[in-house]
Amino acid sequence: MADIIRLLPDSIANQIAAGEVIQRPSSVVKELLENALDAGGTLIQLIIKDAGKTSIQVIDNGKGMSETDIRMAFERHATSKITSANDLFAIKTMGFRGEALASIAAIAHVETISRMPDEDLANRLCIEGTEITKQDKVQSAGGTNMIVKNLFYNVPARRKFLKSDPVELRQILDEFHRVVLANPDISFSMHHNGNEVYHLPKTTLKLRIIGVAGKNYNEQLVPVSEQTDVVTISGFVGKAEAAKRTQGDQFIFVNKRFIKSNYLNHAIRGAFEDLVAKEVYPSYFLFLDIDPANIDINVHPTKTEIKFEDERMIYNYLRVTIKHALGQYSISSLIDFGVDQNFVSKFSKGNQSTDNATVNVHQTTTSPDPLLNYRHTAKDTKGWEEVYKSMVSVDQTTENPISVLDTIEGEAYQMSLDESLSDVTSNKTPYQLHKNYIIYQIKSGMMMIDQQAAHERILYENYLATFSKTQKFSQKELFPITVDLDPAKAAICKKILDKINALGFEMSEFGQNTFVVHGTPVGLDNSVSVGYLIEEILNKYTENLEFELGIEENLARSLAASSCIKHGRTLDKDEMNGIIDQLFGCVVPFKSPSGKKCFITIELDELSKRFNS
Ligand code: ADP
Ligand code: MG
Repeated sequence: MADIIRLLPDSIANQIAAGEVIQRPSSVVKELLENALDAGGTLIQLIIKDAGKTSIQVIDNGKGMSETDIRMAFERHATSKITSANDLFAIKTMGFRGEALASIAAIAHVETISRMPDEDLANRLCIEGTEITKQDKVQSAGGTNMIVKNLFYNVPARRKFLKSDPVELRQILDEFHRVVLANPDISFSMHHNGNEVYHLPKTTLKLRIIGVAGKNYNEQLVPVSEQTDVVTISGFVGKAEAAKRTQGDQFIFVNKRFIKSNYLNHAIRGAFEDLVAKEVYPSYFLFLDIDPANIDINVHPTKTEIKFEDERMIYNYLRVTIKHALGQYSISSLIDFGVDQNFVSKFSKGNQSTDNATVNVHQTTTSPDPLLNYRHTAKDTKGWEEVYKSMVSVDQTTENPISVLDTIEGEAYQMSLDESLSDVTSNKTPYQLHKNYIIYQIKSGMMMIDQQAAHERILYENYLATFSKTQKFSQKELFPITVDLDPAKAAICKKILDKINALGFEMSEFGQNTFVVHGTPVGLDNSVSVGYLIEEILNKYTENLEFELGIEENLARSLAASSCIKHGRTLDKDEMNGIIDQLFGCVVPFKSPSGKKCFITIELDELSKRFNS
């Protein structure tokens, strides 16, 4: 039988190899940005059309390429960054495999214009699927300009499996964020379909984080810094209270290279141990500097995985360093304020931040605060009288399924309350138990109020009422806040934007998936960032969709759940009295809209039985 084994032609070999390195437009973005960095660029521009499907362009002002190098650059295993196997253990550049440009050229139309500083004219090279179609000299600024068009034009199967533009763009943004966060000393810009998405001048790491992740980070970043013989750890972690329900701002860089490591994530998470709830993710922007001899970045072609010589030690250092940073932070905030930081930021609007660099300034408002008026002004008894009235007027015919439940279960309470209320005096002091419950004496014994459930109920009824009011109370933002959402959330947000604004937000669309907020309902918790709040509302709104509640009902619930006082918040006497009063001013005080009991009562009889048993 004849021999059947043949060498693959270069073009096919390159296409196959390209599959390893270039999976989607964002892979091209990553490779081109890294090349621009390696070339010593100080100003790097990324220009995208149609989420990279039509074109991806990166322009740098780096060292450029000679006439020969510009051709060599597209050969497989052609690199200027290493010359021997030993160099693999001392890598200081982002690239070193010499595969990226060869791969890109195999599956796209590439035009490169590059000029070295000491040359008059730039070299231009056009390649289509590994074939050089043009090489000449042109006028150009110094540095390199790479344009990659029609990605996967000759691999239809791959092109077909590209996701929608918003999804591909999200991936591109992720890569862009990783590169710009690791290089605050370099200026970047990004355009998509003619719009400038980012303009990031050279700056400090802190300001770069704020530039990328949002102004709200200004008050939320705790610096981390530790130097040992093996590793230097620097960067920032987000305060525990700022942790989000959705994953997003978790970055670990090793020698400026973004890496993914569940192991190290676990170490960081461990440092936050008791400080955050299970379902939230603290943010971090951490930089590990390690002697390249002690790591192996050669594990994966796209190089987001890494092997450390002593992973356990790095794990421990990281954990201890962050714990230390968080500890330092909480000690210094105690010294600074003398009181619970949460408490200060929650209730003292004018005093919300002592950080001079505050970007997100809220204008103090003179309008009345209809939603969060905790300061207890009326005599205690007044509230209780209202309780009595409202108990009797509970609307039994309400259509809302959860409210119906409330009223049925409520009947039992109504009985005991009717009796208790007849003898409430004005000077009973409420007591807060474990920052969760308010304890209050009633005639028949005692009442325990769940502060979170109760406040959620109060806000929910307030917000629901707001929809029918013509006058809205908004608190204007001095600087409008932009909120970037993922495409799915952005679509929901667009759909219900009118209703969101009917609650007192002043929010409008601002380009694709971005919204700008000029005002928020008066009385919102200032310690929570507006972007975070909007995301929370949309998360809850999406979760609630299965209940088919109607937009207003759903939104009122979502905002109430997102913005209510949570467990763990210290309350003073006035605030507790305010909650008690307002809760029993509610139409249905028994349960929170999400179905939790707002209060329970314990009878004296029951207490005495327990003592005597
Ligand atoms: P690697 O980055 O791993 O070396 P690439 O295929 O990405 O491999 O690039 C090949 C070579 O092309 C690089 O080693 C570098 O010499 C040159 N090169 C690529 N991009 C640029 C650029 N923007 N400016 C200057 N030289 C570049
Ligand atoms: Mg490269």
